[in-house]
Amino acid sequence: MSNIDRVLRWARSSSLWYCSLPGSCCGDEVFHAFGSRYDLERFGAVSQMDPGQADLLMVSGVVTMKAAPHLRALYKSMLEPRYVISVGSCANSGGAFGPNFSYSVLPGVHTIIPVDVYVPGCPPRPEAIMNGLIALQEKIFGYQARYQT
Ligand code: SF4
Repeated sequence: MSNIDRVLRWARSSSLWYCSLPGSCCGDEVFHAFGSRYDLERFGAVSQMDPGQADLLMVSGVVTMKAAPHLRALYKSMLEPRYVISVGSCANSGGAFGPNFSYSVLPGVHTIIPVDVYVPGCPPRPEAIMNGLIALQEKIFGYQARYQT
């Protein structure tokens, strides 16, 4: 990996502008993670209301079949390269409202958009969301490149 590539990856992984879709109970944990106590902004993650300015989509909570096309449209309107973190069991797999229990809930956001990092839990704690963000940063940077001496 060339030095310019390393700089680009470092810049990209350290300035993830996120567009959040906080739904259901997991949404509270996402708000909490970005609040003053856990302060994910110190990792370079800045909130963007306009998806056209964001490169990270954080999906949490139950996603219904009716909401699915809108979520996909929102994803497509984001900048490239774009990344997705799925937060909590409901976004990951439908969770307690999944296909075994309800016909109207999506069995995971991966069925409509590509997911880079899954954060497990019902709900996941803010530390787990923070860990998910760090995992995405390492994925973008390349684990080996970051720790190469
Ligand atoms: S995963 Fe659990 S906490 Fe999160 S939205 Fe679903 S039921 Fe609520």
